[in-house]
Amino acid sequence: MSEPTSLTAAQAVERLRSRDLGWRELFDAYRERIERIDPKLGAFLWSASAAPDGEFDSAPLQGLPVAVKDIFCTEGVPTTAGSRILEGYVPPYTATAVRRLEEAGSTMVGKTNMDEFAMGSSNENSGYHVVRNPWDVERVPGGSSGGSAAAVAAGLAPWAIGTDTGGSIRQPASLCGIVGLKPTYGAVSRYGMVAFASSLDQCGPLTRDVTDAALLLKHLIGRDPCDSTSLDFPEEIALPNRERLDGLRFGVPAELSSEAEGIEPGVAEVFDRTLALIEELGGSVEETKLPHAPHGISAYYVLAPAEASANLARYDGVRFGLRADGDDLLSLYESTRADGFGPEVKRRIMLGTFALSSGFYEAYYGRAQRVRTKIAEDFRTAFERFDFLVTPTSPTVAFPIGDRVDDPLAMYACDLFTLPGNLAGLPGLSVPCGLSEGLPVGLQLLGAPFAENRLLAAGHALERAFAFDPAPPALEVSR
Ligand code: GLN
Repeated sequence: MSEPTSLTAAQAVERLRSRDLGWRELFDAYRERIERIDPKLGAFLWSASAAPDGEFDSAPLQGLPVAVKDIFCTEGVPTTAGSRILEGYVPPYTATAVRRLEEAGSTMVGKTNMDEFAMGSSNENSGYHVVRNPWDVERVPGGSSGGSAAAVAAGLAPWAIGTDTGGSIRQPASLCGIVGLKPTYGAVSRYGMVAFASSLDQCGPLTRDVTDAALLLKHLIGRDPCDSTSLDFPEEIALPNRERLDGLRFGVPAELSSEAEGIEPGVAEVFDRTLALIEELGGSVEETKLPHAPHGISAYYVLAPAEASANLARYDGVRFGLRADGDDLLSLYESTRADGFGPEVKRRIMLGTFALSSGFYEAYYGRAQRVRTKIAEDFRTAFERFDFLVTPTSPTVAFPIGDRVDDPLAMYACDLFTLPGNLAGLPGLSVPCGLSEGLPVGLQLLGAPFAENRLLAAGHALERAFAFDPAPPALEVSR
């Protein structure tokens, strides 16, 4: 019989339900893999030392383990958001998303490493250590949910949750050869999720296949009185079973296609092959335009730092985590923030504070907000003609560790394809669609607000056709 850790989450739930696998046995199998393999990857910042107490016979998820990005507050379990400034912080409450999973019968096997405060595209900005890509340990896993993506790709957890502010679920999923879904803004509560850019942040699944993404999303969604931006999802999330794409219209935005600036030829080639496959499955593919999408990077890197500079003001050495010495209150604030924040976070705080400062507010923040509105309008027009827009998820495959750290603009360029979806609040799904130079390439499907069921259904049909093998060959990670 194959290893229980080789099962997808949906398969594991079935085995647990039929009682030929015990949830503690499965939990321990994952714990053992984390202990053995994670030293090579650095995907976890905390992992459980034993299975928790619990009885899950009648719970939908049957005690199945989950890995949780360390940005979610978890009662009694350290939560750092990848930052030294939160070292030693143990929250007194649990984020709604995690609590919902627990209520559905899920058990937390570990907290995953991430870029500090979710700022980054490579996981090299973690205040603790870099995460390595299971496909090639000399390469980045993507970011900022790189720990969650690497953990799922290496079989250290059946599935994981992450957050996506500008691509941080989809891009690491793409670079690690797994599925990542950023839900419609508001679909999942942000309560207890350490805030980066509140108007963009959204929690979602990182999984081995599309069915698991649907199953995990089903247990995450719903309005939460503790988050006034959360919404009741208008329909149940269904497990996808679509096999063909007949009657579905796929738009390819010229600005975000294989012609886009900075795209690697290997990625462009896999993407173009994918478009041909969509047609073979009965879908129609047509070029369209999102004229303002190329300005997404400039708008996002004003708006996200502006919101971050306000959200991060709370880390002052008084209320949470690290406290450095100071002769008086002001110097205590200053030395705590100087010691506790890493260079990328400091850069964003400076950028954001400047963009919001009097005299410059309209020129930067106001203007970026107008670009955001234009991008949202472009999408609205496109969705009058198309069911989905398709793009590569990332312009490159996983790049070598160290390649872009000294060049913030090159790092920001990683987000070209993913950012517009966040700025417009749309759902986006990344599905592995092939290899370039032996490394995974992801296809991004974007839909209208609350089109998750349709995205998952189309993603399922495509996944079957791609027949992508999600097991990385490089590391000793056979499941
Ligand atoms: N890479 C983007 C950034 O650095 C997006 C991060 C995210 O989605 N959390 O801000």
